[in-house]
Amino acid sequence: MLFVRCSARSLPLLCFLTAEFSRIVYRCFFRVLSTAGFYELSEVKTGKFGFFCPPRFAHQNIAQQKVADFGFCPYNLCMSMTHYFEDAITDFFFIFHGNCILVKKLNNAGGLAHELPDANIYKKCVDYQVAKDWFAEPQNRYAAMTLAEPQPVPQGFEWEPLRSLFAAEHPAASLAARAAGIANWRQNTRFCSGCGGPLSDDKYETARVCTLCGHEFFPSLSPCIIVLVKKNGKLLLARHKQRNTNLYTCLAGYMEPGETIEQCVEREVFEETGIKVKNIRYAKSQSWPFPDQLMIGCHAEYESGEIKVQQEEIQEALWFSADELPQIPPPGSLAWELITGKI
Ligand SMILES: [Zn+2]
Repeated sequence: MLFVRCSARSLPLLCFLTAEFSRIVYRCFFRVLSTAGFYELSEVKTGKFGFFCPPRFAHQNIAQQKVADFGFCPYNLCMSMTHYFEDAITDFFFIFHGNCILVKKLNNAGGLAHELPDANIYKKCVDYQVAKDWFAEPQNRYAAMTLAEPQPVPQGFEWEPLRSLFAAEHPAASLAARAAGIANWRQNTRFCSGCGGPLSDDKYETARVCTLCGHEFFPSLSPCIIVLVKKNGKLLLARHKQRNTNLYTCLAGYMEPGETIEQCVEREVFEETGIKVKNIRYAKSQSWPFPDQLMIGCHAEYESGEIKVQQEEIQEALWFSADELPQIPPPGSLAWELITGKI
């Protein structure tokens, strides 16, 4: 009788422990399979095992053909637990190399348009094992890939500077900027700055976690000012030492800790040209993922001083009339918009 009473009381507990034990065994078994490279993607595809993320090295070792069946790495699809594969709709596939993106140029009635690769081209890059890194953000409905070397491109496609999408105001330009920024961040955020441990992708959000100390790293931005200084209708433009020597553009620089945007503008203009400015006004901002800048476009007026360039950075700085401009940056950048008076 005592045994029966105890059993009856313990039954829920026993059931719970049995279920929990089964779950742990099941997880361990699954992880062993994942680690061994026998990860059955079709199971993930059904969402059955969507809870689990294989470890980073399994992500690298997954049979390429199976990844190709998927379209993109299932590991990164598991970044968000709430997104099982069948819920992950991918609208855009971005393939990057350096600062370029793979596109097919189309001459439409409304002007130049850029067609992005489809899932098949994306899969082929995986098939041919030319991808250095690939990832997806299901919540943003895109998948992206970085190629290690310039590769032969599909017929009709070519490598185009990403800024061309900005210039053409492509509907996916903003998302492509995000994807490029995340791709650069992934490339440059591989080890923990605290303990040196390798990082793995976070399961739940766009972040990386140290496998040793657990510190989390999130995508970061570097704010930069870019300013057009005017004096009696003339524009202050400079040739930079490290860039195309024939190109004249606005003054620009990274913000420093403790600075306001206005203080940064004053400091950068004075450091690079010896000119003091006033009436600083914000104009427009732009994501500039080369690799991680947020460009803050400003206007400023000349206050005092004579041009004296910073030798280390500036080749030459001159005042130009708006109707006698030198070679300036192409469309797609804040510099072009500021110089041409679009903003
Ligand atoms: Zn660490």
